Amino acid sequence: MHIDSATDSLSYWHATQEPFIPDDPLPAAADVVVIGGGMLGCWTTYWLAKSGANVVLLEKNAIGWGATGRNGGFLIEGAAVSYQRLIELLGADAASDFYALTIQGQQLAYEIVEGEGIDCGLRRTGTLSLALSAEELAAITTQRDLLAADGFQTELLDRTGVQQLIHTPLAEEITGGYLAPTGGTLHSSRYIAGLARAAQRNGASIVNADVASVMSAGNATTVHTYLGPIAAGKVVVALNAWTDALIPEMNGVIVPTRGQIISYKPTRRVFTTATGAEITPTGEYWQQRPDGSIVVGGCREDAPNKDSGIREMVTTPHVTAKIEQVMPRLFPELSDLETDRQWAGLMAFTPDGLPIVDHSETSENIWYGGGFNGHGMPFGPILGQLLATTVLTGQRAPALAPLVHTRPSLG
Ligand SMILES: Cc1cc2nc3c(=O)[nH]c(=O)nc-3n(C[C@H](O)[C@H](O)[C@H](O)COP(=O)(O)OP(=O)(O)OC[C@H]3O[C@@H](n4cnc5c(N)ncnc54)[C@H](O)[C@@H]3O)c2cc1C
Repeated sequence: MHIDSATDSLSYWHATQEPFIPDDPLPAAADVVVIGGGMLGCWTTYWLAKSGANVVLLEKNAIGWGATGRNGGFLIEGAAVSYQRLIELLGADAASDFYALTIQGQQLAYEIVEGEGIDCGLRRTGTLSLALSAEELAAITTQRDLLAADGFQTELLDRTGVQQLIHTPLAEEITGGYLAPTGGTLHSSRYIAGLARAAQRNGASIVNADVASVMSAGNATTVHTYLGPIAAGKVVVALNAWTDALIPEMNGVIVPTRGQIISYKPTRRVFTTATGAEITPTGEYWQQRPDGSIVVGGCREDAPNKDSGIREMVTTPHVTAKIEQVMPRLFPELSDLETDRQWAGLMAFTPDGLPIVDHSETSENIWYGGGFNGHGMPFGPILGQLLATTVLTGQRAPALAPLVHTRPSLG
């Protein structure tokens, strides 16, 4: 694939997998047209194909060219906001249901990856959140207690417990952490390409097409691509950072936000879990792949305006230099790591930190989902399934009710 280095970059995941550039022909019509070949679009297409629907997925680049092929590869649990904040936003019962939805998303991913034979190195490693001070350990303990009270599995660890999971000496500032055991790590591009191929095996068409607009007149909906139009029964727009291009009312609500990330050349085995910490308030995260490469991202706090509103998928030296300080600061013996790649991807942020899934203001035949706030991986399988049910039945799945775009917390 040609990369314009002024606006785009190649991730570790892209560089270690043959890109899947779809080549099915553009049909004249389909029951459902899904737009965007990231985790939401591919999962929605997969579930629709499984249920026997005539479904077409349109992706303008390669499958996984957006955030899905550029992320940290964490199959994390929960929302981007803390559990405490989730309770404030939704109320106790709905917060618990919402958190449970993300655990369901993880379980679906484990089941389907295994069932479809998707070779993406998905491992149930657990997600480890580190505390870097006594105050952070207290905050993490509160979060953990709230989750435990609602029946979610989490294990509180002291410094010794953390050291057992990380095979290099810890910096003094690490005071403990907690482990959510359901989390996992995977190879992001192999995962999403494998899922798209599974959707194809189940009957979906996948077309390399750039969508210009979606028009609705009465009950007729047409998706206009640069290859030609498709008449669609229903449409699902799964563009996350690009949602506003086709759903104008999401302009300024779902806001593109750049995430920067690097990989280190393979080194000795150190990390066994998906791991995160808050050296800066916007967070840092890393995992080690089976080949020994370490993928580390974060430090958005150090970018002007926290990289909000930026659409170029390229790194900036100031932020990548900060990311390069994360490993040596937290693990003093990791001061000899060699940077291999640097890249950027577009997350999509919402005012309340929760995704939005709704139909467009112009038509109930046009649905969209996006605004994952850098935390989308557990949502893909489950929201894709709920969206598939919604468009097939014509009834909004009840679990989608808290995610409507008219909720007060969006302001
Ligand atoms: C640096 C970084 C690290 C992250 N780390 C994690 C993590 O570890 N765990 C986690 O849970 N989440 C993480 N996230 C967030 C997660 O990757 C996203 O929430 C998720 O991938 C979004 O998936 P999506 O399908 O909604 O969008 P995307 O993956 O962005 O897919 C949208 C697709 O639409 C295509 N497209 C755009 N416009 C058009 C058009 N007009 N016509 C046709 N196609 C179009 C794009 O090419 C793209 O492939 C991270 C994100 C970034 C950027």
